Amino acid sequence: MRTLFINIKTLYANKENPLKPLRGKALRNINSLHNAWVLCENGIISSFGLMENLENMNAEESIDCNGKLMLPAFVDSHTHIVFAATRESEFVDKINGLTYEEIAQRGGGILNSAKRLQNSSEDQLYTDAFARALQLMKQGTGAIEIKSGYGLTISDEIKMLRVIARLKDSLPIPVKATFLGAHAFPQEFKQNHEGYIQQIISEMLPIIGAEHLADYVDVFCDKGFFSVEETARILDAAKKYQLKPRIHGNELGITGGVQVAIAHKALSVDHLEEIGPEEIELLSNSETIATVLPGTSFFLGIPYAPARKLVDAGAALCIASDYNPGTCPNGRMSFLLSLACIKMKLLPEEALNACTINAAFALELQEEVGSISPGKRANLILTNPMDSLARIPYTFGEDMISQVYINAKPV
Ligand SMILES: [Zn+2]
Repeated sequence: MRTLFINIKTLYANKENPLKPLRGKALRNINSLHNAWVLCENGIISSFGLMENLENMNAEESIDCNGKLMLPAFVDSHTHIVFAATRESEFVDKINGLTYEEIAQRGGGILNSAKRLQNSSEDQLYTDAFARALQLMKQGTGAIEIKSGYGLTISDEIKMLRVIARLKDSLPIPVKATFLGAHAFPQEFKQNHEGYIQQIISEMLPIIGAEHLADYVDVFCDKGFFSVEETARILDAAKKYQLKPRIHGNELGITGGVQVAIAHKALSVDHLEEIGPEEIELLSNSETIATVLPGTSFFLGIPYAPARKLVDAGAALCIASDYNPGTCPNGRMSFLLSLACIKMKLLPEEALNACTINAAFALELQEEVGSISPGKRANLILTNPMDSLARIPYTFGEDMISQVYINAKPV
C-alpha cells in the first residue's frame, strides 16, 4: 500500500537520522521544506521532497494537505497509564493546602493508587489503559513508555507488567515496558525497607527476567522514597536481567538521584525540578538524557525543571508527560509544548525536538520513530491549517491536530 501526502505547507523532515540526541544549539535545528510531499509504503516513510519535483508515484491513496504542517508524531518516554482509578479527591485536598508528602503520609498518593489497582482485574486494567493509549494516539503520541509501580506486591506488579505486555501486542505504536516496583514502600514495609527491597530483588526481578516482562527498571529515588543506596542496590540487581535503568530523581529534593542515575549509566533521569549547578554540569557531561515533565509542575504547582539551563549547558533534553492519576492526569503532548515554551523558555523547535527525536533516543527507538525520515514508521501529525510551528504552543490547550497517522493509517 502506497500513500502519498501532497501539498504539505511545511514538512519537518530529515534525510539523515542523528546518531546521538540533540544538544545545545543543535536542539533548535529542524529541517523544514515548504510545499512538500511524503510517500509512505506499507506504513513506512519511503521518501519526501518538494512539490515542484514530484513525479508520478503510482500511489493507491493521495492525501491533500493544503495549508497544513506535517510533524513527526510525539514520543512519550514517561507514563503511568495503567491505573485503576482517577484521584480527583486528592486534587481537592491539594486545593485545600495539603502537600504531596502529607497526602502520601495519609495513605493517599501512590499507595491509594496501589490499593485500587490491587482490587482490579487484569482485563479491566487492560481495557482502561488501552482506551487511554488510543486517546493519546489521537492527540499525536506515536510511541510510548509505560511503567508498573502501582502494584507494590509481587503478584500485582506482575499483573501490571502483563497488562503492559498485552498493550505492546495490541497497540499499533511501539510500547516500552518499565518495571517500577520501587515506586513507594508499601504500608507494611514502611518500617522495614529491607524486607521490600528483598522482595523486589529476590522475588519480583527473577520472574520479570524469566518472562521478559520489562525492557527497563526504574526507581523513585527521592526524599521520603528510595535512598541513593537503596536505588543502587536495585539497579545492580536488575542488571543481571539486562534491565537498563531510567530513574525518577530530584523531584522533591536534591538527594542524589542524578548522581546515582549517571553512575549506573541510566538511559534517562526524569523530573529534575530540584537540581542545582552541580547536577546540570554532571548531566551536560553525561550520556544520560535529562527528561523534564512540565505537566507535573503545572498540576502540582511545584517549580519547573531548569530546562533552559540544561539545554544551554549542553545536556540532552527530553520532554515527557508523566501521565498518571496523581500528579499529571493528562498526556496531551501539544500542551506540554506550550508549558515548555511559556514556563521553561524553550523555543518551539527545541520543545518539539525534545519530545520527538530526543525522546526516541531515551527509549532506544531512534531507528523507528522520532522524525520523518526514510525507513522510519509513518507516525505523523497533520496539523490544522496554520502558518508556523509556533502556533501550536502559542494557542495553548487548543486542539491543533487535523489528523494523526500511525503506520500511515488515520487514527
Ligand atoms: Zn513518573
